[in-house]
Amino acid sequence: TTFQEFNLNKQLQNAVSDLGFEHPTEIQQKCIPMILAGQEVIGIAQTGTGKTAAYMLPLLMKIKYAQGDEPRALILAPTKELIVQLAEHAQQLAKYTDLRIFAIYGGIGPKTQIEYIRQGVDVLIATPGRFMELYLKGELPVSQFKILVLDEADRMMDMGFMPQLRKIFEVIPRKRQNLLFSATFSERVERLSAEFLEFPIKVEV
Ligand code: AMP
Repeated sequence: TTFQEFNLNKQLQNAVSDLGFEHPTEIQQKCIPMILAGQEVIGIAQTGTGKTAAYMLPLLMKIKYAQGDEPRALILAPTKELIVQLAEHAQQLAKYTDLRIFAIYGGIGPKTQIEYIRQGVDVLIATPGRFMELYLKGELPVSQFKILVLDEADRMMDMGFMPQLRKIFEVIPRKRQNLLFSATFSERVERLSAEFLEFPIKVEV
């Protein structure tokens, strides 16, 4: 299998070649077509399997180009380190597009992040805490989210993010595509999935 088999645009295919990815990994082969088709997916995969590109490529394909100022894709992950890593990977994949990708996390003052968001963002990568903080300040437009990804869902559950996640799900649009990725399908992750995904397909590698 090659990346040409997916209906990805030229910009994304060129970025994939620049990264030296020749063949999609198993999780990518399974997830990319489903996500492109609009399916909700629960991906159970460890780090190192290519799980990030498995959801990031179809997500970038769906968002396609910069549009308006309000973010349309939201990726939630548990820690600053992971957020920064995800944003770097997303930037590499989106390098030939005009998509604006931005990461927000705690541990630093919110001022610079607020200024950046005001200038317009298409893909927002966030920790649940900083997301709610900026939302409550009235600095985060939430009405245009069409795709939501929960990455490292098991760690988010372990870290006690459930109450914050519930609040976030209440303020973002109800009609959206939900994707959940986790290294393990623990009982807590199962409950989270049951609560927030409607008809997901589970993909395990
Ligand atoms: P991840 O599981 O998303 O943390 O990815 C692990 C590493 O695999 C990252 O450094 C990616 O750049 C790399 N990677 C992802 N997909 C592929 C692929 N299809 N071929 C080669 N390397 C890949």
